[in-house]
Amino acid sequence: MDLSQLAGNAALKRQLEAESARRGLSHAYILSGSAGSGRRTLARVLAAALVCDGAEPEARPCLACSGCRKVLAGIHPDVNYTGTDGRDITVAQVRALRSDAYIRPNEAARKVYVVINAQTMNPSAQNAMLKLLEEGPAYAAFLLLTDNAAALLQTVRSRCETLSLSPVTLLEAEDYLLRRFPDKPEAEVRAAAGRCEGLIGRAVEELSGAEADESRAREGAITLLERFVGGDELSLMEYAVSLEKWDRDSLSSLFGETVLLLRSALVLRAGGGCGETDPQRLCVAREAADKCSANMLLSAVDTLEKLRAATLYNAGAGHLAGWLCAALMSEK
Ligand SMILES: [Zn+2]
Repeated sequence: MDLSQLAGNAALKRQLEAESARRGLSHAYILSGSAGSGRRTLARVLAAALVCDGAEPEARPCLACSGCRKVLAGIHPDVNYTGTDGRDITVAQVRALRSDAYIRPNEAARKVYVVINAQTMNPSAQNAMLKLLEEGPAYAAFLLLTDNAAALLQTVRSRCETLSLSPVTLLEAEDYLLRRFPDKPEAEVRAAAGRCEGLIGRAVEELSGAEADESRAREGAITLLERFVGGDELSLMEYAVSLEKWDRDSLSSLFGETVLLLRSALVLRAGGGCGETDPQRLCVAREAADKCSANMLLSAVDTLEKLRAATLYNAGAGHLAGWLCAALMSEK
């Protein structure tokens, strides 16, 4: 059984490998562990193993067949997720799941139900789940994810095998994260690994969140400069107003990225090569160089540097956006 997607947890992997080789996978598991400990990763691997049709049973999941690939992409029609919205799971949801379980699988031999935050089921929801675990069709399998297995009724627990996920070591976290984020600076990845206390999901969230913020700031800088250079005052104002929803860190990155673009424009204006390789950034820097005087560009840099400094001092996003708009318009 290929469990390489899950970091650390050597004992759990041995347990699962031995059991699945001996008598195949169980139809019901509790995946218990803290947030970020890998419950969802393990659930994906188990779901893939259950619907895989590309390998002999002991080699499942193959992670290469169409079934496995659909599970990994989160689009397999026979793998159903409940509780993803963070709300408590209701008895009505469990009943709906029960009706669904009696409809035969679409394309796999099995149907898999992943229940996130299973501890949020109240006793009647849990009893409905118990009935399903006891009497459900043989092709249905259930993966109950929880950070607190003790909150599940003893009767439910006794119907499932429990897989307990543990925090991983620093070395395991670093190894996993360096493979997962090959393009990130190594120091940044190691620092996130050091902070996550063995709960890799936290580091993944931090690193991918930072990635999303960076690309939002880069795109925002292009928009801001485009509107400053070419757009009318209204469109600049509209954009400034939309920034009121950003947090201060993101605004700081946005202002920093915009300053970089303005500096490129200044270099281009002076006849130099600015080193921008991204065609969209180069295009907007060139337009700014053509349409704005050096003084305009310099005073915009000055304004944005002041705004960036202000993001450190608790200034509200609304206030900063208003300031940005007023200052940039007066420079035009
Ligand atoms: Zn497969």
